[in-house]
Amino acid sequence: MKNNIFHLTSMAQWTIQQYLTKGDIALDATCGNGHDTLFLAQTVGENGHVFAFDIQEAACKATKSLLQENAISDNVSIFNQSHDSLLQYIPPKFHKNIVAIMFNLGYLPQSDKTVRTSAVTTCAALEQSCILLKKGGIISIAVYVGHDGGKQEMDAIQSFVKHLPTQDFAIAHLSYPYTSFPAPELYIIHKRGT
Ligand code: SAH
Repeated sequence: MKNNIFHLTSMAQWTIQQYLTKGDIALDATCGNGHDTLFLAQTVGENGHVFAFDIQEAACKATKSLLQENAISDNVSIFNQSHDSLLQYIPPKFHKNIVAIMFNLGYLPQSDKTVRTSAVTTCAALEQSCILLKKGGIISIAVYVGHDGGKQEMDAIQSFVKHLPTQDFAIAHLSYPYTSFPAPELYIIHKRGT
């Protein structure tokens, strides 16, 4: 079996892979332990570039180590900054030129659960991501509701995507409606055009 639809993060990566190719520019808005950053860096190759953000220094270090273990260094820029300042840190020449942006929300597994993404900063980051995104590109958002603040964040994201102009953006949504526990959901935002 190549991919499992019930594993949300691999589903996000699989979807991104349909759009992203060698030489492209990508962004990991919540790099954590670096798994998505590594995936993006390997997908865009040495002629592409990946920007990675996390507010935790430990997460940035973990991402750097994972990249080093995989012999990747030159094509990734890591920022120990909140993703609500994406436009400030990503150089203007890359604006409107990013093909894929990944959000894996919530808290870092096996870490301080009080440091987690939140509705206000996530929506600010999504707004900036829609500006940074190249036409034809996509944003993936994995959202978790099981922790404190998760429901508010989910509601805020739903409201955000609902209000995007349909002539410019298409939205896809993957959910698991028949589970007995609060299941995560995946949103995909596609910027129309070429
Ligand atoms: N994709 C990661 C897991 C991400 S977990 C992996 O594959 O390992 C969510 C991450 O979001 C955590 O590391 C947390 O520190 C980070 N985070 C929380 N608030 C943030 C913010 N405002 N800006 C950037 N990162 C944030």
